[in-house]
Amino acid sequence: MTAPSSATDPRRLEEARERVEALREQIRHHDYRYYVLQEPEVGDTQYDLLFRELRDLEAAHPELVSPDSPTQRVAGEAVEGFASVQHREPMLSLGNVFNAEELTAWYQRLVRNIERTDVRFVCEPKIDGLAISLIYEGGRFVQGATRGDGTRGEDITANLRTIRSIPLVLDAPASSLPRAFEVRGEIYLSKAEFARLNEERRAAGEQLYMNPRNTAAGSLRQLDPRITASRRLDLFVYQLGWVDGDRPVDSHSAAMAWLGSLGLPTNPLAQQFDDIDAVARFCEGWVARRDALEYDIDGVVTKVDDFAIQRQLGIVGRDPRWAIAWKFPAEQAVTQLREIAVSVGRTGVLTPFAALEPVFVGGATVSMATLHNAAHIADLDIRAGDDVIVQRAGDVIPQVVAPVLSRRAGRELAPFVMPSTCPECGSAVMHSDDEAAYYCRNRRCPAQLARQVEHFASRGAMDIEGLGEKMAYTLVDENLIDSLADLYVLASEKREQLFAIKGLGEKKLGALFANIEASKHQPLQRLLIGLSIRHVGSETARALAVHFGTMRALRDASLEELQAVADVGPVVAESVYDYLRDEENVALIDRLTALGLRMDDDVSARGGPLEGLSIVVTGSLDRWSRNEVETLIKGLGGKVTGAVSKSTAFVVAGPGGGSKRERAETLSIEILDEAAFVERLHEYGWRDEDSATT
Ligand SMILES: [Zn+2]
Repeated sequence: MTAPSSATDPRRLEEARERVEALREQIRHHDYRYYVLQEPEVGDTQYDLLFRELRDLEAAHPELVSPDSPTQRVAGEAVEGFASVQHREPMLSLGNVFNAEELTAWYQRLVRNIERTDVRFVCEPKIDGLAISLIYEGGRFVQGATRGDGTRGEDITANLRTIRSIPLVLDAPASSLPRAFEVRGEIYLSKAEFARLNEERRAAGEQLYMNPRNTAAGSLRQLDPRITASRRLDLFVYQLGWVDGDRPVDSHSAAMAWLGSLGLPTNPLAQQFDDIDAVARFCEGWVARRDALEYDIDGVVTKVDDFAIQRQLGIVGRDPRWAIAWKFPAEQAVTQLREIAVSVGRTGVLTPFAALEPVFVGGATVSMATLHNAAHIADLDIRAGDDVIVQRAGDVIPQVVAPVLSRRAGRELAPFVMPSTCPECGSAVMHSDDEAAYYCRNRRCPAQLARQVEHFASRGAMDIEGLGEKMAYTLVDENLIDSLADLYVLASEKREQLFAIKGLGEKKLGALFANIEASKHQPLQRLLIGLSIRHVGSETARALAVHFGTMRALRDASLEELQAVADVGPVVAESVYDYLRDEENVALIDRLTALGLRMDDDVSARGGPLEGLSIVVTGSLDRWSRNEVETLIKGLGGKVTGAVSKSTAFVVAGPGGGSKRERAETLSIEILDEAAFVERLHEYGWRDEDSATT
């Protein structure tokens, strides 16, 4: 082996060594800012320059390369298989509770055991990922393993080295650290990264991944670390494991603070509580807000903070007595797809949906799920009779994620074909090649009218209480109405017939009539929503009402004038224009006018305090759900956008907002936490009690 050229010049080598050390230090610092704190100080270009300089120096002086250099994260070669690793202390499982009573029962057993009630708990969201063990020796990452069966796992050190939030060198002098210790954590894939990977697969025509957890599991067990590196996995550490020598801390919370100070990523959402009711409220709170996080969680873990009490409580079977998982209802389940049925919407669109063998998922029994459209069914190759994965998350409508293809083997299942006639009225179904949708074009289609009535009366539109789906179908099925305008003559013309229908009391009908009458005063934007004009949702309706002020002005508007309205695109403008030139629609509006419906809008709705501002919301807020805060911002004239860009006015960031916050910082966009946002609203003249009216 020839000696490296630098060996001939010790001074140059020494200079290079110093520079290499300095670069590694800087890169580690920026990795920590970026991947752990999610608060980068420098842009990508600057980071790349540092990285390139280090790589070049190491190439020129190979004797300076060390395994903990940031350039060596993806240096491992593909392997045949993973070596088995014995965990020095078993990786235990956790007992489960599902509600506050069970949590209280756990607490009471615990208190009886230790004969004291002054116990502090630490709670944190339970990441839906893969548990791993990391071993540091002399401050350097030396081994990482999967949990495996809890006693033996697999050595996946090379793959874990590729994860940028795992420090290869801890941020403390080795002399200040225990000789060796173990840290436990959860590897996960963020929702955004999962979506990015699936987008790549969709583009490549490959089968899509099911969920972030499975994808993270598959990525960690890649035999080629380069593949793992390409998946951008992430980590939260949740526990200090064994320690060679004295434990530097005596409680879990102190351990987490210590690990955080060494550069390991800990979950900032962890909280301490002194009473079990507060723990229960924390857990319940996350059931409702889990979707706001940028990663999946499947519960909340509660631990006794004090290590001495932990030791006193000990372990029963495989579960420690000092920790418990409050598990959320599973959001995915497998069941049989009995039939692909088709429903007809208020604008005549035919929508296929899944009729399922009822299954308990996401905390409720689900027997129907959306299938979106025919193209989606074809893409995923979903067939009636398949076993399918059903997902129900939060308030989102249950959906069929994918068929379980392995269970189809040997069965003859026919691909789905859209019916050629409307399942409700038998008219021919129309389909144009440039759109995914199929339509029933029959204006007298009873299903369409019933849906239109239901929508017209809904809370976001004319807000007629007592006129829901069931009543809408009754009115249509009993031939009491032929159009939306007929609703306003029900009280005068169909009173007797309605009273004759079984199950409708006099009181109930009286209230319904009064509510229908009261809806005549709804402003134009609500009427526009209620009319079921294709492509016109609440935002477009608002833009049109604010811009034109009256139905008359809207009807007189040319196509060009409609297109000139902010937030109204060409397709929407054309749809509105065509709607207002259709004879039947014109007759309907004339009749509604004659019946005394209001045909203008409150002009003062124009020019809300947030008008013209585009705002991004990320993370979870205490005071509002995601929907509520968006409605609030829109109600004040602002625009809510999904991505941070240069035109973003400011970002409202609650806990858990990661990548959007980062992006805002990179672009120097103002970031407001919840309190600052409320303060800003106050500056704009908004008062707390206003939120009740949005
Ligand atoms: Zn029809």
